[in-house]
Amino acid sequence: MNISQPPSPPLPPDLIAQFAAIVGERQALTAEADVAPYVTEERNLFHGRSPLVLRPGSTAEVAAICKLASAHRIALTPQGGNTGLVGGQTPHNGEVVVSLKRMDRIREVDTASNTMIAEAGVVLQVAQQKAAEVDRLFPLSLGAEGSCTIGGNLSTNAGGTAALAYGVAREMALGVEVVLADGRVLNGLSKLKKDNTGYDLRNLFIGAEGTLGIITAASLKLFPKPRAIETAFVGLKSPEDALKLLAIAQREASGSLTSFELIAHIALDFSIRHVAGNRAPLSGQHPWFVLMELSSSRDDARSTLETILEQGFEGGIVDDAVIAENLTQRMAFWKLREDISWAQKPEGGSIKHDISVPVAAVPAFIAEANEAVVRKVPGARPVPFGHLGDGNIHYNVSQPVGANTADYLARWHEVNAVVFEIVLRMGGSISAEHGIGVLKRDELPDVKDPTAIALMRAIKAQFDPLGIMNPGKVL
Ligand code: FAD
Repeated sequence: MNISQPPSPPLPPDLIAQFAAIVGERQALTAEADVAPYVTEERNLFHGRSPLVLRPGSTAEVAAICKLASAHRIALTPQGGNTGLVGGQTPHNGEVVVSLKRMDRIREVDTASNTMIAEAGVVLQVAQQKAAEVDRLFPLSLGAEGSCTIGGNLSTNAGGTAALAYGVAREMALGVEVVLADGRVLNGLSKLKKDNTGYDLRNLFIGAEGTLGIITAASLKLFPKPRAIETAFVGLKSPEDALKLLAIAQREASGSLTSFELIAHIALDFSIRHVAGNRAPLSGQHPWFVLMELSSSRDDARSTLETILEQGFEGGIVDDAVIAENLTQRMAFWKLREDISWAQKPEGGSIKHDISVPVAAVPAFIAEANEAVVRKVPGARPVPFGHLGDGNIHYNVSQPVGANTADYLARWHEVNAVVFEIVLRMGGSISAEHGIGVLKRDELPDVKDPTAIALMRAIKAQFDPLGIMNPGKVL
C-alpha cells in the first residue's frame, strides 16, 4: 500500500554514528538485509524504508535517542512486535526505527498488590506465562500474542478475545513509563488503583500509536487465575440467534463469560480449507457459529455452560453444540478462530474493516453491510467474524472468485466508504481495536468530531512540538 507523507530529511553518516554510539554498534542496523524485517510486516501490505534501526536496551538509551533526534529534528518510528494491522509501526518515509524488542525484562511481580512491571518489549505471551507462574492471570489475549509486545499492546490499546470480561489493554494498565520526544522520562509506573491527582496522563499514551512518546515500561494489573475454563463451539442460524444466546450467557454466567466470538460459515470454511490439521468442530452445516468461553474461580463453569446451551436448545436458538473435553480440543477450537485472518489470504484480496457498533446493532449491521458491499462489488464475499460480546466485528470482504486481486484491492477505500457509512449511521466506530495508523488516517477527519480532532492536534503539538514522533500516523 502506498502512503503519502512528507519526506524525512536524509540522515548524515556522522549522525548515524552518534545514534550508534548510544546503543552500541551491534544494535544499530543499517545494512539493507538487517533493516528489511523492520520496514515491512508479515502480511506484506505495508512497505517502508529506513536508513537506521536502533535497538536500545534501556530507558536511558531510549531517552538519549530521543534527545539526539530532537536536536536534529530526526523522525522516529517506535516498533514492538511489528504485528500491527494499520501500518503504524512502519517507517513509511525514511524514519529511524526504534525497536523496543531488547527491553524485555519483567522488572517486578507483586502478588500482594496483584501487579507486574514489564518493559515495553516483553512479548505478550511471556507476560501471560510470568503471571501464570505465580498463579495469576494477565488476561490480554490475541492471535498475535506470540509476537506482539506490551508496548505495542498499550500503544494500540489492543482488545482481543477476553475484553468482554476484563476490558481492553487500557483497563489492564495502572501506569506507564514514557520517554517524551525531547528525551525527558515520565515515570508513571504507579501500582495504584486509586490516584486522583490531576489529569490522566497515562491514558493519553495508551492508544496513541507512538505519536506522543515511547512507552518503555508499564505497570500491569494481574487477576486471580481461573480454576476452570470451559469452551463450547455452537452452530446457529443467524447473528440474531447469537445475540439471544449472548443474553442467556450473560444472565447465567455474568462476569465469568470471558469470550463470545461470532464466526460466519465462510470464515470457518476458509480456516478449515486452508490450514492443515483444522477440522470442523460440528457435523452438519450451520450458517453461523459462536465460540464461547467461561472462566471461573469455582468448579461450576461446566454446569453453567451446560445450562446456557440447554436454554439455547430449548429456545430453538442453538442448532448444535460441542463442549471441549480437554485442553487439546479447546486449543483446536481457538485455533480455528485465530487462523481465520491468515486463511483469507489464499482466497485472494481481502478488504478489511475492524468496526464496532452497539452490540444490539450487530445483526442489522452485518445484514446491511453484506447487501451494500455486494451491490458495490458483485460477487464480493463478506467474511464477518469477531468479538460479538464487544460489538466488534472484523468485517473483511474477500474478492470475487477469479477476480484480479490488484483491481479488487484498488477499490479498498470505495468499499470502506460503503461499510463506514453504515457503521456511522449506527453510532459505531471505524476502528474498534486495531487503531488508525496510516490505513484509516485520511478517513479520521470525516468520521470524528471536529472538536475532538482539534484537541488531538493540540495535544500532539504540546507533547511533540517538532513532529518527530511517528509522523504521519493517526493525524
Ligand atoms: P507494533 O505492530 O510494533 O506497533 C503498533 C503501533 O504501536 C505502532 O503505531 C507503533 O509505532 C506503536 N508502538 C509499538 N511499541 C511502542 C512503544 N513501546 N511505545 C510507543 N509506541 C509503540 N489487535 C487487537 O487489538 N485485537 C486482536 O484480537 C488482534 N488480533 C490479531 C491477530 C493477528 C494474527 C495479528 C497479526 C494481529 C492482531 N492484532 C490484534 C493487531 C496487533 O497484534 C496489535 O495491534 C498489537 O497490540 C500490536 O503490538 P506490537 O508489539 O506488534 O506493536
